[in-house]
Amino acid sequence: MQKQTDYLIIGSGIAGLATAYFLSEHGSVTVLTKSEVRNANTYWAQGGIAAVLSKEDSFESHMEDTLKTGAGHCKESAVRQVVFGAPKAIKFLKSIGLKIEDEPMREGGHSRARVWRSSDFTGRDILEVLIKAVQRKNNISFLEKTEAVELIVDEGECKGAFTRKKNEDEIKKLAAKYTILATGGLGQLFSKTTNTRGSGGDGMALAVNAGLELKDIEFVQFHPTALAIAKEGRHFLLSEVLRGMGAKVVNKREEAFLSKFDERAELAPRDLVSRAIYVEEMTGPVHLDMRHIEAGMIRKKFPNIQKALKEYDLDLTKDLVPITPVAHYACGGVPTDLKGATMLPGLYAVGEVACTGVHGANRLASNSLLEAIVFARVISESLAKSASMDVSKNVNIDSLEVPSIITEDINQVKAYGKRIGQIMWEGVGIVRTVEGLKKAKKEIVKIPARDYRVQHRQLVCYKIIEACQARPQSLGAHYMTKEII
Ligand SMILES: Cc1cc2nc3c(=O)[nH]c(=O)nc-3n(C[C@H](O)[C@H](O)[C@H](O)COP(=O)(O)OP(=O)(O)OC[C@H]3O[C@@H](n4cnc5c(N)ncnc54)[C@H](O)[C@@H]3O)c2cc1C
Repeated sequence: MQKQTDYLIIGSGIAGLATAYFLSEHGSVTVLTKSEVRNANTYWAQGGIAAVLSKEDSFESHMEDTLKTGAGHCKESAVRQVVFGAPKAIKFLKSIGLKIEDEPMREGGHSRARVWRSSDFTGRDILEVLIKAVQRKNNISFLEKTEAVELIVDEGECKGAFTRKKNEDEIKKLAAKYTILATGGLGQLFSKTTNTRGSGGDGMALAVNAGLELKDIEFVQFHPTALAIAKEGRHFLLSEVLRGMGAKVVNKREEAFLSKFDERAELAPRDLVSRAIYVEEMTGPVHLDMRHIEAGMIRKKFPNIQKALKEYDLDLTKDLVPITPVAHYACGGVPTDLKGATMLPGLYAVGEVACTGVHGANRLASNSLLEAIVFARVISESLAKSASMDVSKNVNIDSLEVPSIITEDINQVKAYGKRIGQIMWEGVGIVRTVEGLKKAKKEIVKIPARDYRVQHRQLVCYKIIEACQARPQSLGAHYMTKEII
């Protein structure tokens, strides 16, 4: 007999844990996560959560900013659901112990301050309260260091996942009445990223291998202000809130230059700022400058960022901090409806892996943590209704064969991953060309990998490139040019 659960959640970031918390009211939940539970992008989110919580602000304004940043490509009904769901999402986080600051901050693309933080490491604070909250539930079990290698599809339905524990060869079946993909984003497909190692687009590969299409996957958001120095495969982020507080982006002559590109300067949307820095970097290094801001204020508002920068011997109050744009967020992914359901019966998707239509061609800052909570609740409410009607749902998959997978030496896997990252950065990065995309596609296919992990990455990269090629005109985060500038 295989292991069986009512709800299988793949991933333990904000999306996975919030969904687990809500669904535990309606049945048994198993959370599968490929590393330790805290190893998720959520842990590193700094800025906060966008929400309209005061009379001076309005839902219409938050909607308008989201739609405008999304370059007219958002699904308005999804934006409405998320924007109007924000106060309830904040209330939920407070109810499980998150302490929210009294005053909101401002980030690029928002026409007013509406980004709520608990500290300058809001994502970490959220993950900690969520972990405590799910630990209090006795029908949620965790399988750490265990990854989903393939979804179980039987009779046209998703019935769980085939799983593999780290460093073991055996593939096991995990049967579930409903499966929820919460595997996060794909930044690690690019050599320069803010994302954690687990963010290699796994959920998107699982969905494609189960017969689903991806949507809006060409819209990869590049964050303009990551620390230029990489460590352990990722770049530390310098939150947009720093610019919201007056930080300037300066060139090698220590001149602020962003207003040449857009009148909103430091507070222009991320794609514009990223491209402006990308161009300026061709003439010399670019830095973030906060030396004109009162030091006490910086220390008070950004103690964790200051602490992290100390490891690089940098101090926001005294130093110019070297920055560079890097891959940050997948605006597209596995398409879902307004209830989080995918086109495959039994399969849902939530968080960064999903394409709900909220972000369109470019995500408005601090809308993603919000989207994850709102959709986690919606999925749970929708499944509560189906589960009560579906007590006898048959998930007997005893007769199904486990797939055979090929693994290669981990150093070889890492070397292929590095090569993929370089190809994607050079050919499918901040500025794209027809020729560059063609070359990248050829090179991705040429990698002679047999290991399933590398093949998953190749598959998602291929899909991204195909989506870019299908959109010859620039839109939002997808920027095409005839020449390499
Ligand atoms: C540095 C940084 C700062 C950010 N700041 C903000 C911010 O201020 N505000 C905001 O709204 N957004 C922010 N974002 C974006 C936001 O943090 C993410 O979009 C969000 O946390 C994604 O949550 P998630 O649960 O979907 O994915 P994650 O938190 O990435 O979790 C994904 C989980 O899936 C697991 N997983 C992956 N593949 C598999 C597999 N095959 N099998 C099993 N498990 C798997 C991973 O191990 C991980 O546990 C930031 C992102 C980064 C990287």
